[in-house]
Amino acid sequence: MDAEMEPAAYLPLLAIAIFAALFAVEKLFPLRTTRSALFGRLVINLAVAGLAYLTAMIVVRPSALHTLDWTAQNSFGLIQLMPAPDWAQFIVGFLLLDLSFYYWHVLNHKIPVLWRFHNVHHIDPDLDVSTAFRFHFGEVLLSTLFRVAQVSLIGMSFITFAVYEGVFQAGTLFHHSNVRLPIRLERLLNKVLVTPRMHGIHHSQVQYETNSNFGVVFSWWDKLHRTIGLNIPQSRIEIGIAGYSMPEDNRLWHALALPFRKQRDYWRKPDGTIPERDVAVVQDARTYLAE
Ligand SMILES: [Zn+2]
Repeated sequence: MDAEMEPAAYLPLLAIAIFAALFAVEKLFPLRTTRSALFGRLVINLAVAGLAYLTAMIVVRPSALHTLDWTAQNSFGLIQLMPAPDWAQFIVGFLLLDLSFYYWHVLNHKIPVLWRFHNVHHIDPDLDVSTAFRFHFGEVLLSTLFRVAQVSLIGMSFITFAVYEGVFQAGTLFHHSNVRLPIRLERLLNKVLVTPRMHGIHHSQVQYETNSNFGVVFSWWDKLHRTIGLNIPQSRIEIGIAGYSMPEDNRLWHALALPFRKQRDYWRKPDGTIPERDVAVVQDARTYLAE
């Protein structure tokens, strides 16, 4: 490992510090009322996240770093073709990384085999900072293909890659958290960033709402692609996936085996009803963040 690799060593520590801070604040100032017992969810989410972390460290990260090395040696990728100063290359690389993660998230919802795995993230019956890295190891493994394509096509510098990774992790922890920010502050932040209320709507049981707000760091991509939906009050959101909303659906073994089993109708509750949005509670402008 050369000196350039050093910053990456601090990433897990930084992520743990941000996790602890958000965990404390969301208990003091919760945004949504929770439905299930915290301890049981924590055990499941940390176990699922642990397997995801191992998969990322053993497969995804080495593949991405190897690809990054290869693009630098062979002057491959969009950024390498750009006759621009380093700072401009950094900005373009950073934006392209975030835009490509937006597309990857959309694909995880649109392609059935990817959704089988990504659904495990969505069936968490509550949404808080512990949901942030609750991804099935199969989703993480499949993302290797995406990461290799992403890194080689963009061809960003190592520093762009490392800085984005840190911001990506911080952003993921932040927008999954159940922290109640003052609405005016959140509206301001949301002009640039994906925030807890915006991502909370992405975890709604209403199909149309789950299929909105795909962004990770910047909120612009959803506005640009018209996948934004901010006009749902948090108090009206039922978190989870309707077809997997029974308490026993969120057991560890069930969650890990879920992608390999016969799939249910995702959008229908066990009692046969389909969660729909009462239009009376929805504000008109889809781009105005509801409280
Ligand atoms: Zn999603």
